[in-house]
Amino acid sequence: MKIGAPREQFDGEARVAMTPDSALQLQKLGHECFVEAGAGAKAGFADTAYAAAGVTVLPDAAALYAAVDIVAKVRPPSEAEVDLLRSGQTLISFFYPAQNGALLDRARDKGATVIAMDMVPRISRAQKMDALSSMANIAGYRAVIEAGNNFGRFFTGQVTAAGKVPPAKVLVVGAGVAGLAAIGTATSLGAITYAFDVRPEVAEQIESMGAEFVFLDFEDNQDGAATGGYAAPSSPEFREKQLEKFRELAPDMDIVITTALIPGRDAPKLWLEDMVKAMKPGSVVVDLAAERGGNCDLTVPDQKIVSDNGVTIIGYTDFPSRMAAQSSTLYSTNIRHMLTDLTPAKDGVINHNMEDDVIRGATVTHAGEITFPPPPPKVA
Ligand code: NAD
Repeated sequence: MKIGAPREQFDGEARVAMTPDSALQLQKLGHECFVEAGAGAKAGFADTAYAAAGVTVLPDAAALYAAVDIVAKVRPPSEAEVDLLRSGQTLISFFYPAQNGALLDRARDKGATVIAMDMVPRISRAQKMDALSSMANIAGYRAVIEAGNNFGRFFTGQVTAAGKVPPAKVLVVGAGVAGLAAIGTATSLGAITYAFDVRPEVAEQIESMGAEFVFLDFEDNQDGAATGGYAAPSSPEFREKQLEKFRELAPDMDIVITTALIPGRDAPKLWLEDMVKAMKPGSVVVDLAAERGGNCDLTVPDQKIVSDNGVTIIGYTDFPSRMAAQSSTLYSTNIRHMLTDLTPAKDGVINHNMEDDVIRGATVTHAGEITFPPPPPKVA
């Protein structure tokens, strides 16, 4: 099959869905690879590097879409990009079908198959295709780097001839994939790290990453526990206890990284204005939930602001794109694994097996039908 990656059209997006390395792997599966000119430029992959890896470089999006059987991209397509698809063609990208019903209808009307990378079931067998996790891992790491870049002090404590420096104190709120990556990064830089999650089962993971789990004195500690590995909304009583604990911690924390999300809802507000006001000048809040409204009252999505008392609040929503070389490498590997499963005989022939839980789960339009939402996976 002919597989191609266009240049991402979304403003500021620097990632690309195929790298020269992933193209080499795709060719071993019997596929032919294409990119739009400049597709990898912002991620550090020059057209010449693709050409050297045997990839055909085409001048524009129209030429690319016309040439290939499978389009691999990062961001959900725009309406104009869906209109470039043709019947029988396959698109693999993030798609968020629950939020993009009109796009889904449009892709179905075009007769295209859409494989949504955000719909890959989170089961063990599919971890190698789990692009939500690979991108969340990068976002968590980058959140700490951005925090450090805006924090005028060391993370690690030092005793120097010029004086003794205390270690930074970092609080991570939400210990899913991004939160655990942030914990690992902050502790490896030498910070004293604390973390909180409503799912008590993550306490062990938090501690294994070198952070201290913030326990709440609450009689039903399963209150915020999850269904299917995710969090459920907390009761008002639990939330009050949580806010009380955060109020107690706020004056002492130098950096707060919030990552708390509940599927299908706006981000819960957990780091309130009075907590920001209680922080020391020079402290930093990085709100990884900014795209879903933010965990911090003062977050402005896509902006860095400084509060009246000198606390920097970062609400960027493009952390993976800020590390485009790394994220393109991991994302293109997720895509390549999806294509490996779609090419079982390694003969360049796609077998879109709707009996396969992972392929079925991720496929949101196929053969003129909308196939979202999928049935629950049979195997964990
Ligand atoms: P997410 O991005 O949906 O949420 C981030 C974190 O916020 C979660 O840990 C959640 O418990 C927490 N949270 C929600 N409300 C909160 C609150 N009020 N206060 C504090 N924390 C709050 O989560 P995610 O990173 O996508 O991961 C969700 C789960 O899926 C995790 O258990 C993860 O281990 C699991 N997972 C499993 C696989 C697999 O293949 N088996 C792959 C990826 C993730």
